[in-house]
Amino acid sequence: MSAFQKETVLSVKHWTESLFSFTATRDPGFRFQNGQFAMIGLEVDGRPLMRAYSMASANHEENLEFFSIKVPDGPLTSRLQKIREGDIILVGRKPTGTLITGNLIPGKRLLLLSTGTGLAPFASLIKDPDVYENYETIVLAHGCRQVSELAYGEHLVEGLRSHEFLGPLIRDKLIYYPTVTREPFRNRGRITDLIASNQLFDDIGQPGLDRDTDRIMLCGSPAMLDELHAMFAARGFAEGNHSQPGHFVIEKAFVER
Ligand SMILES: Cc1cc2nc3c(=O)[nH]c(=O)nc-3n(C[C@H](O)[C@H](O)[C@H](O)COP(=O)(O)OP(=O)(O)OC[C@H]3O[C@@H](n4cnc5c(N)ncnc54)[C@H](O)[C@@H]3O)c2cc1C
Repeated sequence: MSAFQKETVLSVKHWTESLFSFTATRDPGFRFQNGQFAMIGLEVDGRPLMRAYSMASANHEENLEFFSIKVPDGPLTSRLQKIREGDIILVGRKPTGTLITGNLIPGKRLLLLSTGTGLAPFASLIKDPDVYENYETIVLAHGCRQVSELAYGEHLVEGLRSHEFLGPLIRDKLIYYPTVTREPFRNRGRITDLIASNQLFDDIGQPGLDRDTDRIMLCGSPAMLDELHAMFAARGFAEGNHSQPGHFVIEKAFVER
């Protein structure tokens, strides 16, 4: 059996010149935990060209969804950005990743802190009814350079608020905090600075960071992760993993090559 499953693209939406999302069929045998990633890609010259991608869809959904960057000369995304309905993509059979609720010790408030396409695993997690069962409040922060880059997240949260079953849970418990660094917007600044200064918590009318109640998931640029990792460690938060749950968990949104 091949390590990759062939799936059919069902829809593609371009959000900006550098961001798009797409849905694809899902093999019924492809099981994953919300927040995980898999290798996905295209067959190029008869060989699989694969990259890590977080599932933006939840594991109860019939189809798969991904939220993607377009790197102009990127080996995969220079091609992937051209996919259309009916095209075939490859999906690895072994999802993995640390951004799963089981890697966190129980808490009351879940902070999901992302930049750029780091939003993708949280798109999956905020559709998970168990997350609303296990936490009193979920804060989804998404930082981008420009307002247009927030569109996928804004559309996602709006759609969930009016969702028949999840809507009431989301309206009561999910606080969405988009912020941009390079344009005027209602929230401005880097997530790292907004947390360090407590501004993020003031803006949403919530108490500041508290190790006893806060559990945190981070997905963003390597620089953002380094800074927040150091900040949380300095405040006594312990990093969790598969063998030892902790106060926070981290996944890179991409690696610098
Ligand atoms: C655990 C994990 C999960 C990931 N999930 C996603 C996802 O859900 N969506 C997604 O678009 N990408 C995701 N990535 C990045 C992805 O694996 C590829 O790097 C990306 O698709 C670009 O592929 P490429 O072959 O075109 O360029 P690559 O050669 O892979 O990358 C070229 C350069 O582009 C930059 N870059 C790559 N990806 C990004 C990105 N997402 N945001 C900003 N800059 C980037 C980096 O500087 C990198 O050095 C993930 C990476 C990891 C490690």
